[in-house]
Amino acid sequence: MAEYETHSYDVLVIGAGGAGLRAAIEAANAGVSVGLVCKSLLGKAHTVMAEGGIAAALANTDDRDSWQTHFADTMRGGQYLNNWRMVEHHAREAPERVRELEAWGAVFDRTPDGRILQRNFGGHKYPRLAHVGDRTGLEILRTLQDHVIHQQVDVNMECTIVSLLREGDRIAGALAYDRERGRFKLFMAGAVVLATGGTGRAYRITSNSWEYTGDGQSLAYNAGAALQDMEFVQFHPTGMVWPPSVRGILVTEGVRGEGGILVNNQGHRFMFDDIPENYRSQTADNEEEGWRYTQGDKSARRPPELLTRDHVARCIMREVREGRGSPHGGVFLDISWIRTKLPDAEAHIKRKLPGMYHQFKQLADIDITKEPMEVGPTTHYAMGGIRVDGDTQMSTIPGLFAAGECAAGLHGANRLGGNSLSDLLVFGKRAGEHAAIFAKEHPPGAPDPESVDAIANHALEPFGRHGEGADGPYQVQHDLQGMMQELVGIVRREDEMRKALDGLAGLRARAARVAVPGNREYNPGWHTALDLANLLAISEAITRSALERKESRGGHFRDDYPAKDPAYAHFNIVVTRGSNGEMNVTRVPFPEIRDDLKQIIEEET
Ligand code: FAD
Repeated sequence: MAEYETHSYDVLVIGAGGAGLRAAIEAANAGVSVGLVCKSLLGKAHTVMAEGGIAAALANTDDRDSWQTHFADTMRGGQYLNNWRMVEHHAREAPERVRELEAWGAVFDRTPDGRILQRNFGGHKYPRLAHVGDRTGLEILRTLQDHVIHQQVDVNMECTIVSLLREGDRIAGALAYDRERGRFKLFMAGAVVLATGGTGRAYRITSNSWEYTGDGQSLAYNAGAALQDMEFVQFHPTGMVWPPSVRGILVTEGVRGEGGILVNNQGHRFMFDDIPENYRSQTADNEEEGWRYTQGDKSARRPPELLTRDHVARCIMREVREGRGSPHGGVFLDISWIRTKLPDAEAHIKRKLPGMYHQFKQLADIDITKEPMEVGPTTHYAMGGIRVDGDTQMSTIPGLFAAGECAAGLHGANRLGGNSLSDLLVFGKRAGEHAAIFAKEHPPGAPDPESVDAIANHALEPFGRHGEGADGPYQVQHDLQGMMQELVGIVRREDEMRKALDGLAGLRARAARVAVPGNREYNPGWHTALDLANLLAISEAITRSALERKESRGGHFRDDYPAKDPAYAHFNIVVTRGSNGEMNVTRVPFPEIRDDLKQIIEEET
């Protein structure tokens, strides 16, 4: 084997967002050695971008809230495809995780009597999102980071894992390169936790950062782990649409939680036109009631802007398609109208939504306290990901765990806003705890030296390619993103997705010819070339899973099968790698929900 800088840990955590940091803290507390690896600098993970808040049934703002209501809301939001065991853990444990974060120094916004303030968000029956203005992720990441650096965790920043390594059936470690110098690093580990985030960069219009290239999902898949629910991609209804350079940047649901309304180019509040039957009893049928709800009136029902994200996104698309959109292909989101209701509206908006105020002022020259914003759907979140055990977070490979956005199960067909940040804490903790238990029984593995060399050599191939037929990595990435947006986006059809599969085959052939000039020292072209394999694998998994699900449910909408089909309500679509490298797609039924949980759903709905 060639010489590599080598590290050995009991637990290797890949990813330093909320899930990775929480896992690292828990594993270190269990007394095992922990290494943490991340692509960017510590503190820059995607979690930092989270805006609106973290969902937990603290019942501070409305004492009717409970873990049972949170459980029922999450199951309904996920259209009952969720791993109900995970939903139960999440609803029960989220309040404790939030209070723990507060004890570690997180400073949340407060109620007048000094408790953690909670705001309204789509699909949550009661105000449930603990928040810090619209910069909640920043505060959470800062707090976890301050905590982790006191736990003797060995941090490897700007370091990208290119492959997981196995010893027989179990996980043995991972191979990485450091982004600055381009040298390989070999990590040996007893257990590995993947916490690498989502897949949004497979699409052209996205709220996700450059890091979201589906690495964890693809690493796990290539190592032999199963993925599930990959067809469920969340298109957040409100991203910026203008100017073009900022298209896709998120406009937090917090705007609607604070009273923001959606109107078309005729000034009509179109969300009142289409309220799904199963949400009708909980949804206001007039403007006044909706406004009262956002102001904390417990007798009022929530405004239709706070219906689930999949529904709001499709209503916006309908307005645009039928010619009632805004000048740049979106609709209008207006929070400035609350000036007619609140004497101090301008100060209120700046206090509750400071990030949004500055975002629009600086990027679009819009003062949101005085004018409406233009918004449209943006690729936001991956409900699908690595298939895990609902108690331990272990994947189908012994010793390989996954938590946070790269894992599947909690959110089913559609995630409720705020449920990701709580997911990171609840399941980051569980993954860290169980990885430590596994590592105590399994010392760091010994990967096969020949496979390590083969992986390293393969990663260097783009430097050796020149001349005729060579492609640039950015062009291939750009074409892939455009194709996924166009053919496997918000509205899907069999013929278009078949075309996408052919397109993916062509793009894979081009990716195999990608050439990169220069050397290994901080070479973004090379990094992009290596990301391509991940993007292609997860794009294929999304497309094949979406073809398999011949119905519309949650984040997956099929123009050719627009209705929900009860025949699809009892299984997850699971993707695995076959022995010849082909992608296998199967339907895996999930266990019947426990009677006591079924009863909660019946009582709460
Ligand atoms: P991340 O925080 O993305 O961390 C991933 C880590 O993995 C990073 O450190 C990265 O460097 C590392 N990594 C990736 N690939 C590799 C590799 N190959 N090798 C090494 N390291 C790697 N959710 C809510 O609940 N409430 C909100 O208000 C909210 N607001 C949001 C606003 C925006 C703009 C966006 C985009 C999302 C928002 N979300 C929100 C969703 C939520 O922020 C994310 O789902 C969550 O932060 C994901 O956390 P994570 O720990 O799974 O991954």
